[in-house]
Amino acid sequence: MHQHVAGPSSHEASSFPDSLSIQSLSPLFPSTFSSLPSTISLSGTGPLTAPISMASSLLESGWLYLITNFSEFQLATVGTFIIHESVFFLSGLPSIYFERSGLFSKYKIQKKNNTLDAQEKCILRLILYHVCVNLPVMILSYPTFRYMGLKSSLPLPPWSVVLSQILFYFILEDFVFYWGHRLLHTKWLYKHVHSVHHEYATPFGFTSEYAHPAEILFLGFATIIGPALTGPHLFTLWLWMVLRVLETVEAHSGYHFPWSPSKFLPLYGGAEFHDYHHRVLYTKSGNYSSTFIYMDWLFGTDKGYRKLKSLEEEGKQL
Ligand SMILES: [Zn+2]
Ligand SMILES: [Zn+2]
Repeated sequence: MHQHVAGPSSHEASSFPDSLSIQSLSPLFPSTFSSLPSTISLSGTGPLTAPISMASSLLESGWLYLITNFSEFQLATVGTFIIHESVFFLSGLPSIYFERSGLFSKYKIQKKNNTLDAQEKCILRLILYHVCVNLPVMILSYPTFRYMGLKSSLPLPPWSVVLSQILFYFILEDFVFYWGHRLLHTKWLYKHVHSVHHEYATPFGFTSEYAHPAEILFLGFATIIGPALTGPHLFTLWLWMVLRVLETVEAHSGYHFPWSPSKFLPLYGGAEFHDYHHRVLYTKSGNYSSTFIYMDWLFGTDKGYRKLKSLEEEGKQL
């Protein structure tokens, strides 16, 4: 999961950028967006190469359009919801198409396929939960985010800040998720809450967010705790949400490609790692982390997975 963001209502659409550089440019708005970039460099300091500078300029022009036409409340709630839905459903489509068409079947981790009914049930339930759980959470959590320092004004933060904050969110989310997920695998919680997510022993992209509403709230907490602690820029928050959605959809895709992120990102779990968690009995599955592999290694909950991997390696060598 994924969550979300928000901040309150006091911020009006008209309460436009408070930074000096933007104020000085406001008379140019909106017809001369293209002239903004050189003044409001995303990097903040130092010269940029031409392509990066141009991309940053476009980004800041687009951001200026958003904060001029929408209030921060609208962006942090409905805007976040729209981005989440777009990224989630678009990124989840390929694996469902591959499963139905048989394309890339040699990279499919499990031989089994889901039925059409099972795929449809997952999608319909997701739409219901997204509207009835995720969206209200985004709206209700907005005041908290505002209180913790969420901002949306220009200039956008330097990339060094954006990327270091997002790396911190990934590490913290993985840690919280690991322990929460282990808890969800205790008998009572598994039976009454987490078994919903495990209805799909052969996962596909959309199943990443298919869970009991109580689990959606927990996962949402793990996702927003990092941003809530650091009071980020809304841009950083959106980028974090997009990367987290792509990561969990990939982990549930059911396909392990030669170009999968786990092939080149050190310590990254990915589809093979999480698929094992879904296909093994819940008391024995292990692999509880969401993103990385080191928590399961440190606490010895990846022994079954490692044993299977080494057996597979031995099999290949024979
Ligand atoms: Zn689980
Ligand atoms: Zn899962």
